[in-house]
Amino acid sequence: MPGIQKAAVIGAGTMGAAIAAHFANAGTPVLLLDIVPGAAAGAIAKMQKTDPAPFMSSTAVKLVTPGNLEEDIAKLVECDWIVEAIVERLDLKQDLYRKIDAVRRPGSVVSSNTSTIPLAKLVEGLPESFARNFLITHFFNPPRYMRLLELVTGPATDPALADGVARFADIALGKTVVRAKDSPGFIANRLGVYWLQCGVIEALDAGIAVEAADAIMGRPFGIPKTGVFGLIDLVGLDLMPHINASLAATLPQGDAFHAANRDLPLIKKMIAEGYTGRKGKGGFYRKGAAGREAIDLATGDYRPVQKADLPEAKLRDLRALLSAPSPAARYAWRVLGQTLAYAATLVPEAAEDITSIDEAMRLGYNWKFGPFELIDKLGADWLAEKLAAEGMAVPPLLAAAKGKSFYTLTEGQQNYLGTDGAYHKLTRPEGVLLLADIKRVSKPVLKNASAAVWDIGDGVFCFELTSKSNSWDQQNLEILGKAVELKPKALVLYNEGAHFSVGANLGLAIFAANIAAWGEIEKLVAAGQQVFKAMKYAPFPVVAAPFGMALGGGCEVVLHADAVQAHAETYIGLVECGVGLVPGWGGCSEMLARWAAAPGMPRGPMPAAAKVFEIVSTATVSKSAAQAKELLFLRAEDGITMNRDRLLADAKARALKLAENYTPPTPPTYRLGGEAAQLAFESAAEGFRARGAATTYDMVVSSNLATVLSGGPADLIDEVSEQDILALERAAFMRLIKNEGTLARIEHMLVTGKPLRN
Ligand code: NAD
Repeated sequence: MPGIQKAAVIGAGTMGAAIAAHFANAGTPVLLLDIVPGAAAGAIAKMQKTDPAPFMSSTAVKLVTPGNLEEDIAKLVECDWIVEAIVERLDLKQDLYRKIDAVRRPGSVVSSNTSTIPLAKLVEGLPESFARNFLITHFFNPPRYMRLLELVTGPATDPALADGVARFADIALGKTVVRAKDSPGFIANRLGVYWLQCGVIEALDAGIAVEAADAIMGRPFGIPKTGVFGLIDLVGLDLMPHINASLAATLPQGDAFHAANRDLPLIKKMIAEGYTGRKGKGGFYRKGAAGREAIDLATGDYRPVQKADLPEAKLRDLRALLSAPSPAARYAWRVLGQTLAYAATLVPEAAEDITSIDEAMRLGYNWKFGPFELIDKLGADWLAEKLAAEGMAVPPLLAAAKGKSFYTLTEGQQNYLGTDGAYHKLTRPEGVLLLADIKRVSKPVLKNASAAVWDIGDGVFCFELTSKSNSWDQQNLEILGKAVELKPKALVLYNEGAHFSVGANLGLAIFAANIAAWGEIEKLVAAGQQVFKAMKYAPFPVVAAPFGMALGGGCEVVLHADAVQAHAETYIGLVECGVGLVPGWGGCSEMLARWAAAPGMPRGPMPAAAKVFEIVSTATVSKSAAQAKELLFLRAEDGITMNRDRLLADAKARALKLAENYTPPTPPTYRLGGEAAQLAFESAAEGFRARGAATTYDMVVSSNLATVLSGGPADLIDEVSEQDILALERAAFMRLIKNEGTLARIEHMLVTGKPLRN
């Protein structure tokens, strides 16, 4: 991307090293410097073993050049953006800025990843020319996966420079940039830490058990199930006192935070004894000999986790839940009431508008709804009245919303309430197209309970899965078939669920198998094959836009598209063997064709089939879109979009480009190894078993996979057609689904979400 050709990160600790890795993920060469010699190289090596991985591919690793500050500082002259991520100390940061300023190229960007130090302090005493090029870019941990980036500018910061950084962070790094004011803790941590602190002290005061607190403060409000105590365990108990002290030192007197901030002897003791959370011996929760344990907040002793007794009937009615007479409900009200009220005091002090606060909490803390969206769910009037009735202050912004809601929808246009009391349009940046917005203003072209087709403009249709976890069934296959018959100018496969698709609906498969409805199962296998191939050979281009998990049938549909525009975080794979099956919707046929045509692949029937056997029999799933290219789930020329919100627009643009001059592909033919190949695959699998890497039932499954990939039972196969492979896939699938071993695997997967190693 123009503007930022090369970057540098200084400080190769938790954040700096991972930020450098993410620049590399974006394809930008980056210099990683630390004051400790060898620290940067050590961090790069360590990151290659870290899970979840900071790097998206091995290519990205090569883009990070390690160095140390003393010897390599002059190299900063080559860098367009220098990110400072050293320890949180003003004097050290300022000292470093002077050194950077002495060598950097004029006009290059310098930013700090500080969590707590105001920008005004950071640039104090530094030259005006430095302040003009300086801003705060606050990444969240882990930087590859957390979508939020808070951007803070000072009065001296060049607005064009800040816009350039925001654009690069959005498009190249895939971040959602939220502009924050230069106030303590910025937005997400200011509110998030207040919420956590209230969550802890209210539980202590009311004698609420940690698991009860987390159960009521989590899921019912669209907050991750870690709730308050689980989240503190995750980020580390030892971080809390530092952040609290820093906020206490910098927030103005009278800020509600001070009332919530107090000495907590139990937490001090836990930290001193090494109970710093998941990274330590445990935290509020720990793994005990007999299972998961939780700490008793009153005694400090651990005891087995108990199932929280929530007022079930009220979970769907948040007002009723918050007004219920139980101690847990009272706790939820105390925590949430104070947190929502505090959020309303942060505009315009910490954020320009309510949308920034909602976005920051959705992306920085994974809340499904931002605080103002939650207030709308409860009703602004209801909240204001309840606060007043309990003698709590009603913030002016909340009072101003009397009789209104913070968000409105007029003719499909979303608006939000500004501090001026007027509604303002919620607009999307150029290049962002959301299906949710299209769905608000239009009717579907086709729709049933499992899928829909939308007209997304310029003659392009979008096929959307709407079933549970976007799994495939008879109904969504039917809609896809109908969409193909409509012959749009182009078709995009996309949705806005948590994952693109988890594959075929296994619940239906097991139900049919239990009543021995074999004919029905075979019909579904054939239907999937037919629809995916019809899509592949349709007279218009199809672009798949996967993101998150694209597994089994979710992978197979992607393999049949003419082109793919994938989100960078795409976890794609043919995982059928894990549930005792083989890919039955053309996954084998497509992968065989791809590997046979792969550059550098040795000729002959075995090498390509062996590669597919290895990938499919081990149910390999890519850990990123970049890695999916190495496995050929994606082609080299397929596109990758870093920002999730830009995926649909990028896929649509790609589809329109293909439509300009489109001819459908010609069906491939295959040369496969026949019986000799079957034997070779089986002996390879036997080798795995001998080493303990494969189970007894793996041998049955892989032998059936081998039948497909060897082209069938014939001795030497001259030429096999795509239809022949499909017939082999169907036959192998049907043999396996009738096996007890397969049914046990499917059942286990449905119950536990994990593969059974029988
Ligand atoms: P860290 O302690 O893990 O790493 C700091 C690194 O900086 C170390 O490798 C250290 O050797 C190096 N360093 C120290 N002084 C230096 C100097 N003068 N020159 C060059 N290198 C120097 O710290 P971290 O958690 O990565 O935090 C870094 C910054 O990011 C801090 O400002 C912190 O507030 C902020 N931050 C941290 C998180 C988080 O979750 N850890 C999240 C957001 C922001």
